[in-house]
Amino acid sequence: MLKGKTAIVTGSTSGIGLGIARALGGAGANLMLNGFGDAAQIEALRAGLAKEFGVKVGYSGADMSKSAQIHDMVRKATQELGGVDILVNNAGIQHVSKVEDFPDDRWDAVIAINLSSNFHAIKAVLPQMRSRNWGRIVNIASVHGLVASAEKSAYVAAKHGVLGLTKTVALETAATGITCNAICPGWVLTPLVQKQIDDRAKRDGISVDQAKVKLL
Ligand code: NAD
Repeated sequence: MLKGKTAIVTGSTSGIGLGIARALGGAGANLMLNGFGDAAQIEALRAGLAKEFGVKVGYSGADMSKSAQIHDMVRKATQELGGVDILVNNAGIQHVSKVEDFPDDRWDAVIAINLSSNFHAIKAVLPQMRSRNWGRIVNIASVHGLVASAEKSAYVAAKHGVLGLTKTVALETAATGITCNAICPGWVLTPLVQKQIDDRAKRDGISVDQAKVKLL
């Protein structure tokens, strides 16, 4: 169905992003992977997806907190894979702390990676999507784009921001063949959530299973 299209999926070395990359590759799209991790494991993942789905798969180690690296990632995808038709803004991090204890640098990092990266990537891909009058932009927000939880101020603010950005881009592209949507997942057991479970077990001196029940 997506044969000949190219997709960038940010944060696709793990969790939800990897699942999305697999689904897009399975539908025939060429892929630009992104995210952190062990270089040899990422190369094995890249080569494995290319073989499994018979599509071209590239990798960019761009740090989503750096706008220049985001623009480099889009340039690399365009040069190596022929253009960017689909952008999935998925990379994200979490930090859990009360507002008065929330470290300034964690606030800045969560806003940069979970919100500002979406803006920089969209800005970088829109001109070429407009020139082809086709594009699909999918921002992975969260139920925390709609409701709040205590101790997640930066994450909740960023995800609410993602929904606002999504609506604005959707309006600005409404008369074109480009769509911009957000998805608001609930809990998915990925490394991002496992860390919160492990931290709570350690903090409260309870088992990992008990921490899982308490968190959910
Ligand atoms: P994860 O920790 O499994 O994966 C995060 C990915 O982002 C990894 O590939 C990681 O390397 C990458 N990443 C982190 N910082 C980066 C940076 N600075 N630059 C580039 N890549 C970076 O997390 P996940 O649970 O799969 O989360 C993916 C998205 O889904 C996030 O936006 C998250 O907020 C959202 N989400 C997750 C859940 C959940 O319950 N897991 C629920 C709702 C929304």
